[in-house]
Amino acid sequence: MSTREDVKDNERDPLDPPASVPSEIPAGLDRRKFIMRSAVIGAATVMNGCTRSETERTAPPPAAASESARVQGLAPAPAVPLSPDLNVVKKEKGPVLTTVDEFYKVGPGPSSSHTIGPMRITYDFYQQATKLPADKLAKATKLQVNLFGSLSATGKGHGTERAALAGLVGKEPATVDPKFLDGLRDNPNQVFPVKLGNKTIDVSLKDVIYDATKGDFKHPNTMTVKLLAGNEVLLEQEYYSVGGGFIEWKGYTPPKKNQPKYPFATMKELRTHADNNKTTIAKIMLANEMSIAGRSEEEVNAFVDKIINAMVATVKSGLAMPEDDVLPGPIKLHSKAATVYKRAMNDKYESDRGIGALSAFALAASEENGRGHLVITAPTGGSAGVMPALVYGLLEVRKVERQKIRDGMLAAAAVGYLCKHHATLSAAEGGCQAEIGVASSMAAALTATAYDAPSLVVENAAESALEHHLGMTCDPVAGYVQVPCIERCAFGAVKAWTAYGIASNEIASRHRVNFDETVTALAQTAKDMNSKYKETSEAGLAQSVVLC
Ligand code: SF4
Repeated sequence: MSTREDVKDNERDPLDPPASVPSEIPAGLDRRKFIMRSAVIGAATVMNGCTRSETERTAPPPAAASESARVQGLAPAPAVPLSPDLNVVKKEKGPVLTTVDEFYKVGPGPSSSHTIGPMRITYDFYQQATKLPADKLAKATKLQVNLFGSLSATGKGHGTERAALAGLVGKEPATVDPKFLDGLRDNPNQVFPVKLGNKTIDVSLKDVIYDATKGDFKHPNTMTVKLLAGNEVLLEQEYYSVGGGFIEWKGYTPPKKNQPKYPFATMKELRTHADNNKTTIAKIMLANEMSIAGRSEEEVNAFVDKIINAMVATVKSGLAMPEDDVLPGPIKLHSKAATVYKRAMNDKYESDRGIGALSAFALAASEENGRGHLVITAPTGGSAGVMPALVYGLLEVRKVERQKIRDGMLAAAAVGYLCKHHATLSAAEGGCQAEIGVASSMAAALTATAYDAPSLVVENAAESALEHHLGMTCDPVAGYVQVPCIERCAFGAVKAWTAYGIASNEIASRHRVNFDETVTALAQTAKDMNSKYKETSEAGLAQSVVLC
């Protein structure tokens, strides 16, 4: 697709100030309170021969909401309020300060908060423990992880204990061999020696304890990690997996950051910097990455390359899985990426082959997430098929040069940062529009940037992709990130391509809705969305689909 020159038309002021963007998010939510119950119901349904009674089908969900609130369609009061001490709760004001290494994270699926976060936590503790004085380590006898709140209630369905153990034995989330996690699932009684200085401590899944699901936690995803000498605690830390793979701990203070070279808090401000400096959104983002984190261009590129390579790898490994593969969990969902790709290649029309292949790339990466293999948060685990599909298609199929993909990754990050800054990236707060919708918007910005589109076209493409996911609910069947999530990634990728197609062929200055307005709508829709559709598996497909 070519980019049209006619974007220079100035039929509206492209830098019109947006409506004010609220930054308030719900005070707190029990993120996946009912997911495990649904998983258990689903599993029991399978075991018992599959039918659900009419009463069960039509019964109201056992939500914590008051009846009056439910009648009015209001979200229930949060069961586990988030502590105002948490950095993630403090309202973001001022310019965007997020950096790419905080945003794009590689780790095991299927959930950024229930697998990547816990694994980063135990790996962090492992690293701290290795630095203890030798005389302390000489006394150590045991490592122990306790999972609380939602991590305890729903962790088993996500393989949280396997991810936590992997970090504890010194496996880094970004580089862990998926076979290690598969091996833990298939052979859960394995014991691993962990070397801490001169001391070796044996650990196994028995050292990861599913503890209290309810309590006075600072965050629903709370866990503690301890190094013990008998009953004596040598080292202990309370951690929180606060979403998107981000972690905090008791006493956490955010890392000190420098001011961005080009401060922005809206797409309008970002694009103004690009246009005033006769450069691109990607170049503004690069300058900010360098100034905020104090990194060189080479260092930023090296990190972005690592993420691009990981995205390509996840599509390749997903496509290489056998066609008769069945994903873990009670749904017994058959893998379809390899089949869709193979058959799409035989389609008569080139356009059908293109859409089929792009869908297959997204399915491949998303199925890898369903398997608990390595994925990249862009912005989350559930949406981990969308960006890799476009990256793979542009780099490996269209042979777009790598520097343009790097630029696209930075422009996509800007889209994700702004959605995080003013709305949410969490399905528990905003439904699937906050995951697949944001991922699709990021992928549209990536594509437009990779094809050298002007900044207004990049914005318009990102806006369209986000606009046409507004209101999309989160209702994963049986609490597993598979249905509708895997196919939804394919639709998110195709919509991103469509958004770029429209944005690059329309008269850009006539595009009626700007990105900041749509982010405002995302935030408002997230606030108003009934909690039954926010990753609770209480409604939608999670209720209508019968497992058998
Ligand atoms: S339905 Fe969407 S938001 Fe919910 S778990 Fe699946 S991908 Fe994530």
